[in-house]
Amino acid sequence: MSADVNPFESLQSQIDEAAAHMDVADDVVERLKHPERVLETNLTVERDDGTLERFKAFRSQFNGDRGPYKGGIRYHPHVSREEVKALSGWMVYKCAIVDIPYGGGKGGIAIDPAEYSETELERVTRAFAAELRPLIGEDRDVPAPDVNTGQREMNWIKDTYETLENTTAPGVVTGKSLSSGGSEGRVEATGRSTVIAAHEALEYLGREIEGATVAVQGYGNAGSIAARLADERGARVVAVSDSSGGIRSDDRLDPRAVKSHKEETGSVVGYPDADSELTNEELLTADVDVLIPAALENAIDGDLAEDVEADLIVEAANGPLTPRADDVLAESEVTVVPDILANSGGVTVSYFEWVQNRQRFHWSEERVNDELETMVVDAFDALTDAYENHGAEDFRTAAYVVAVQRVVDAYEESGTFP
Ligand code: GLU
Repeated sequence: MSADVNPFESLQSQIDEAAAHMDVADDVVERLKHPERVLETNLTVERDDGTLERFKAFRSQFNGDRGPYKGGIRYHPHVSREEVKALSGWMVYKCAIVDIPYGGGKGGIAIDPAEYSETELERVTRAFAAELRPLIGEDRDVPAPDVNTGQREMNWIKDTYETLENTTAPGVVTGKSLSSGGSEGRVEATGRSTVIAAHEALEYLGREIEGATVAVQGYGNAGSIAARLADERGARVVAVSDSSGGIRSDDRLDPRAVKSHKEETGSVVGYPDADSELTNEELLTADVDVLIPAALENAIDGDLAEDVEADLIVEAANGPLTPRADDVLAESEVTVVPDILANSGGVTVSYFEWVQNRQRFHWSEERVNDELETMVVDAFDALTDAYENHGAEDFRTAAYVVAVQRVVDAYEESGTFP
C-alpha cells in the first residue's frame, strides 16, 4: 500500500488521460478536475464521560452539472481533505458512466468508530448532519453510506435533517433501513454490480465466471457480498482478507460461513475451514483468475502491480490502484474494470431509493435487481464501445472517455454562469 500517493492527484491524472482521447478544450478539462466547494468543519461532541472531543469533518461537492451532488460519508481515522476531494470526483464520473442524474460529492469524519459507543457515534453523526443541513437536501446534495457507515447513520442524518427542517424528506439521504424509507437491494448493490461487471468482463475476454477462481481483499459490505454473489454464480472464492490478514483454501471458501466467522470474531482470520493464512500482499498477488480489491485507496501501487498474477481486476473499492499500477498492469495485459463502473451498483440503487422516496412508492427486490443489472450492463457496453473506438489503452480510460463526455455535454448545454 502506497500511502504517499495522493488520491486527488490520481483522479486528476485519470481525467487527463481520458481527455487526451477526446475533443474537449483544456479550460473545460481544468474545470472538471477541481471540486466546486469543500466544507471543512470541526465537530465538538460530548463523550459518555462528559468530556469534549473535537473531530475534523469534510464534505466536498465536486460537480453538479448533471444533478444534485451525490455520494457517501465515511468514518475512518485517515479521512482527509485530499481523500474526500478525490472520492467526490470519482462519484461524478461514476454517476455519469451509469447515466443517473446526479453530480458527485463525498464526505467523511476523521474518526475510528470502533473506539466509540453507539450513543457517542449518534452524537457525532447528528452534529455532522446539523453542520451539513444548509448544504444538503433532496435536490441539492444527497449523502449515503461509505466505509464504516450504514443504515443506522443514514437514519440519524435523515431524522436530524427532517427535525431541523420541520418536514419529511426521506430522499435527503440514501442507504436508509427499509422502515425509514430505504430500498430493497441497497445493502447488496455494490457487491452485486462488482459481480455483474466481473461476469461481463470475463465474457468479453471469452471466458466464464463459472469455475473462475476469485480473491477478495476487504471483507466489509462490498467485499463480503461480492464474494457471496460470485460464489452463487459458480465462481470459486479461494482467498479473502481484511485489515487483520487473510485466509486461503485449496478448493473453495464458503463466503457466508466466512462472514459469520467475521461477525463472531471480528476478522476472517481463524476461519476454521481455511487451509492456510496469507498476508494482504500475498492475497493481492495470488494466482487467481479474478482479483477484487474491496478495501481502501492505493492498495496496489506500481511495485506491487509487477507481481499481480490475476488476469482480471474488478475494483469494488474506490481508487484501489495507483496510476503507476494502472500503467504496469496495462503493460502486462491485466484487464481492470474500473471502480466507477464496478462499484456503481451502490449509487445506482441509491438512485432507485431516491426515486421511490420521491414517488412514495416501494419497488420489489426483483425490480431493483433487474434494473440494476440493465444499467450496469449498458454502462459496460458503453465502456467497451469507447475502448474499441476511441483508442483508449485500457478500460479505465475508456470509462472516463464516456463519463467525462456526458459531464461536458451537460456543462456546455447549460453554459457558464455567473
Ligand atoms: N459510497 C458509495 C460509493 O462510493 C455509494 C454512494 C451513494 O450511494 O451515493 O459509490
